Amino acid sequence: MRVLMFGPPGAGKGTQAALLVKKYNLKHISTGNILREVIRSKTETGSIARAYMDDGKLVPDDIIKKLAEKAIASCGFDQFILDGYPRTTEQAKWLNLFLEKHNLTLDIIVSLKVPDEVIVQRLSRRRVHAVTGENYHLDFKPPSPDVDPDDIIQRSDDHPETIRERLRVYHKQTKPVEAFYINDPNYVKIDGTQGLDHINDLIASKLMV
Ligand code: AMP
Repeated sequence: MRVLMFGPPGAGKGTQAALLVKKYNLKHISTGNILREVIRSKTETGSIARAYMDDGKLVPDDIIKKLAEKAIASCGFDQFILDGYPRTTEQAKWLNLFLEKHNLTLDIIVSLKVPDEVIVQRLSRRRVHAVTGENYHLDFKPPSPDVDPDDIIQRSDDHPETIRERLRVYHKQTKPVEAFYINDPNYVKIDGTQGLDHINDLIASKLMV
């Protein structure tokens, strides 16, 4: 099974991906998570990526292309869920070619729709567990009292000005990518402001058709 999650930052792509990973035993390919790992490894690529990410900008396509290709190949070209990739028309073109070359199709392309003002509210109150990477929301999903508060951090790109820049970049560079998929019979548009479980059931029901 091959799944693509599309949508603005904070639409819930990662949260839904994590649920689908458990349900269908998929590999979660999040280019954002891969980049954060690269940054932790303190390589030159990591320091280049970090500068773009901290500014809310997209990391250059050539870096993303290599990381995505490696991740898709490492799971044998199957049983994966793409989260936050492709994010530019260049990346989408490359992904199409790559899938064609390996005779693959996507089983579902989920487009999560969430208004900008909800995204700003979600991301500015988002916190992350430094060790497990689990996401929290200070109002709607606060960390339980047994979680060490020192382990709860705010992503450096979740500060208000950077969130606004990420949204601007989304509308300019990533939203046009949707045109690549909108006529695909496996394209599904879902209101991302609905409850997590309901969204997950909707995705699962489409996968069963
Ligand atoms: P995410 O964790 O998906 O919200 O991504 C965090 C940041 O990583 C983004 O704001 C970008 O700076 C960078 N990033 C993640 N995926 C991509 C991608 N496919 N293309 C370019 N930059 C990306």
